[in-house]
Amino acid sequence: MRLERLREELVDLHAELLRHQLVVWTGGNVSARDPETGLIAIKPSGVRYDDLTAASMVVLDPDGAVVEGDFAPSSDTASHLYVYRHRPDVFGVVHTHSRFATAFAAVGRPIPVYLTAHADEFGGPIPCAPFAFVGDDSIGRLVVEGIGRSPAILLRNHGVFTVGPNAQAAVKAAVMVEDIAATVWAALQLGTPDELDPEAVERLHRRYTTVYGQPGRRSDP
Ligand SMILES: [Zn+2]
Repeated sequence: MRLERLREELVDLHAELLRHQLVVWTGGNVSARDPETGLIAIKPSGVRYDDLTAASMVVLDPDGAVVEGDFAPSSDTASHLYVYRHRPDVFGVVHTHSRFATAFAAVGRPIPVYLTAHADEFGGPIPCAPFAFVGDDSIGRLVVEGIGRSPAILLRNHGVFTVGPNAQAAVKAAVMVEDIAATVWAALQLGTPDELDPEAVERLHRRYTTVYGQPGRRSDP
């Protein structure tokens, strides 16, 4: 079986989506690009999370030809592949309909930086892309166009895409965007939160991405 370790990691990462309550039924997916071969492994379409196994993952080349797998790949595959083809720095992509982030997407509202944790992780507002239909690479195009240096983007009337230097980092971004969206939603019920000014955001982000954490392990997601 090709990319065995990557497939096993994907099983664990889909379990993380459930554990953090980012998905219900089969409505979300994780993919990962193998740095050596450039092949991409992704969730099979319509298979429930509890039934996912390493062997059920679908392996594709960047143009979408199935290299290995008995199932059809996720219906979001064309968009994942578009992101990989246009972002050589991205090795993990996640899509969810997580509740609070998707509430912002439903009203087409980007999330400004009100919180230090948001500045740390994202380094700027979380953008919201216009609406696109699922099925072809339209969503992937909007993700690449709109995401900038943010690891997350909202999709109008739909949900969230996140990217990362590996699949775990992309899952972490999916967890963080939902956490931030939930807190910001609560703050908006209480009043009008203050936006952090861009200089403060930059300073927090720089510190978090260069100084925070254990020496020698700073690139850990
Ligand atoms: Zn979706």
